[in-house]
Amino acid sequence: MKNVVVLGATGSIGQSAAKVARDIPQRMRIVGLSAHRNVGKLEELAAQFPDATLCITDETAPTPGALGSCRKVLRGEEGLLELATLPEADMVLIAIVGIGGLRPALAAIEAGKDLAIASKEILVMAGEIVMEAARRKGVQVLPVDSEHNAIFQCLEGRNPAHVRRLILTASGGPFRRASAESLESVTPAQALKHPTWNMGAKITVDSATLFNKGLEMIEARWLFDVEMSRIDVVVHPQSIVHSMVEFVDSSVLAQLSHSDMCFPIQYAVTWPERVPNSLPPLDFTQLGRLEFEAPRTTVFPALDLARHAGETGGTLPAVFNAANEIAVAAFLEHRLSFPGIWKTVAAVMAAHRSIAHAPLDAIVEADQWARADAAQRIARPA
Ligand code: NDP
Ligand code: MG
Repeated sequence: MKNVVVLGATGSIGQSAAKVARDIPQRMRIVGLSAHRNVGKLEELAAQFPDATLCITDETAPTPGALGSCRKVLRGEEGLLELATLPEADMVLIAIVGIGGLRPALAAIEAGKDLAIASKEILVMAGEIVMEAARRKGVQVLPVDSEHNAIFQCLEGRNPAHVRRLILTASGGPFRRASAESLESVTPAQALKHPTWNMGAKITVDSATLFNKGLEMIEARWLFDVEMSRIDVVVHPQSIVHSMVEFVDSSVLAQLSHSDMCFPIQYAVTWPERVPNSLPPLDFTQLGRLEFEAPRTTVFPALDLARHAGETGGTLPAVFNAANEIAVAAFLEHRLSFPGIWKTVAAVMAAHRSIAHAPLDAIVEADQWARADAAQRIARPA
């Protein structure tokens, strides 16, 4: 039995985590839940997990009414740190969109908790620091992102010297076949229609621009300690093969399942064991074709930008991530065109001088600088 705290419980991953906990109650008990603003959803979850300590991070969010009087409700960033270090927790699942989960993740590591990480942004921003802290404390970092969970499964028990490259699969998003010209007029509503996955708004836009895959390349670099030059991307529109590992003898291992985040969440929680669940198995006779193709990097520059950020390292990945977050928010508010997202990120990256092996303070500073610089460029295009 694992006692799990879920940070970002009201989001898409958070709700899948609640589903897993209901599905395998003998293995997973939710002892903590955080929401940012969605108090109604938190109340719903609290009714399902009556023992959980709660936290609402947005100080301006209303106080929930429908909670039992004896239940503890923490508030704000301090509350989130307290939730992440809850004495009864074995594992903290970080499912907060953006970088809000970084400090709680570091606090959880210091408190000796294992981490299950969905929030790729924190590994892109500070992967070196998070992984080093986890090594020092001897805690596990279990990937929840489906591609990384797949690679984690393929790598288990293997000699790292036998690995040639990691191959991340990408659905290609809704504009896989769209012309470069037609991308100019893409609307938020079109970008929010993902062909295979049902996710939060930010990651859905990231999937459409391929920034999601770019972020995942850097995420893989830190999770598996593999250089960027050995991390490749292949488009696989069906999202059944979640990723692959190629070994030095040219054999490839892959992990397959339906595209449902309950699979990787459950594996992160039950690892190193596997337990039966109510999720549907694959029926290969019904699957039809599994296709693979090269990503169109000239139409979608995010992968090249990510490779450059990951290879340069230091503070540049934080800048890549922060500029993207600001650009995606502006796109969703109709203040920036769809191609404006990668144009903004490229311009902010070009203006940044990266600091190698930067301490956390320098990374946070670079993140804030990039947010301000991106916002300025969007408000006053050159
Ligand atoms: P959602 O937008 O659905 O949910 C985001 C969660 O974070 C909500 O609980 C939200 O609270 C909370 N939140 C938002 N801002 C803050 C903040 N400033 N401080 C604290 N909490 C905050 O996102 P997803 O679940 O889709 O994604 C979460 C993370 O998981 C992302 O990093 C994403 O890249 C990653 N991921 C998601 C996948 C998916 O299938 N969805 C797949 C792989 C990775 P509230 O709603 O209460 O305001
Ligand atoms: Mg993914």
